[in-house]
Amino acid sequence: MRVTLLGTGDTTGTPTVGCDCDTCEAARERGVERTRFSVHVENERVDESLLIDFSPDFRYQFLREDVPLPDAAVITHIHFDHLDGLGNVFRVFDSLSVYAADETDPQTGKSVAETVRDDYHYLDPLEVRPTTPLETIHVCGFDVTLVPVEHPPLVCYGLAIEDPVTGAKLSISGDTSYNIPEESREALAEPDLLLADAIVPAHLCEYHPAGGRHETDDGVPRTFGTKHMTREGALDLAAELNAERTRLVHLAHYYPADEAFEEPLAVDGEQYEL
Ligand SMILES: [Zn+2]
Ligand SMILES: [Zn+2]
Ligand SMILES: [Zn+2]
Repeated sequence: MRVTLLGTGDTTGTPTVGCDCDTCEAARERGVERTRFSVHVENERVDESLLIDFSPDFRYQFLREDVPLPDAAVITHIHFDHLDGLGNVFRVFDSLSVYAADETDPQTGKSVAETVRDDYHYLDPLEVRPTTPLETIHVCGFDVTLVPVEHPPLVCYGLAIEDPVTGAKLSISGDTSYNIPEESREALAEPDLLLADAIVPAHLCEYHPAGGRHETDDGVPRTFGTKHMTREGALDLAAELNAERTRLVHLAHYYPADEAFEEPLAVDGEQYEL
């Protein structure tokens, strides 16, 4: 399993357009970036690739990393930074299966699969495959399981991706607070690589109108506001899941410049062989 981090940033990315903060400047100086979230997972055994989420930076990411176009894709939730690159399918793919959850979201009255189908009904190559969370499906030679996470007000899912032949396992937290349900944690446990949402360090919770929550015994918030894990929350999750290796993703340019490129914070283009 070859995992390429196509996009490791939050919804504005780093550098953020029009921003001259120290972190965006440091990224420019280092020649690194964090575009909007997407992960490419290649199965060399069957010569197929699975894409996780359609970043608005889809075209640029594939040109930059020169990875094969996917044979199938999964969409975790309907936020702009994970879905709105789907229009890039037009005239690039002859056909593409896109897997998304089949549970109705009380907020929208539709499942992720239904929203994808409705919003992109004009894309002839698209085959939307409604998928039941916590039921493992077989795609691109992988066992893939969507796991419910907490990203209010929308439904959102993390992913466990395993190669049943080699035993390699990739877990992706999805956009989530620290409050991931127990059943989902069980499915995500013991990965060779964990990609965990860590939008900001915990000390920035004081600037969020909702503050932080899910504090450690020492009072360190593991959730920033209500929707994302802090760096500390993501690292605690990694320890609980007993992840062999962890990269923090979905990172905002609000990380202070002297913390923004520390380990284990990811940047675009990192590649892992599992
Ligand atoms: Zn900035
Ligand atoms: Zn989101
Ligand atoms: Zn996001």
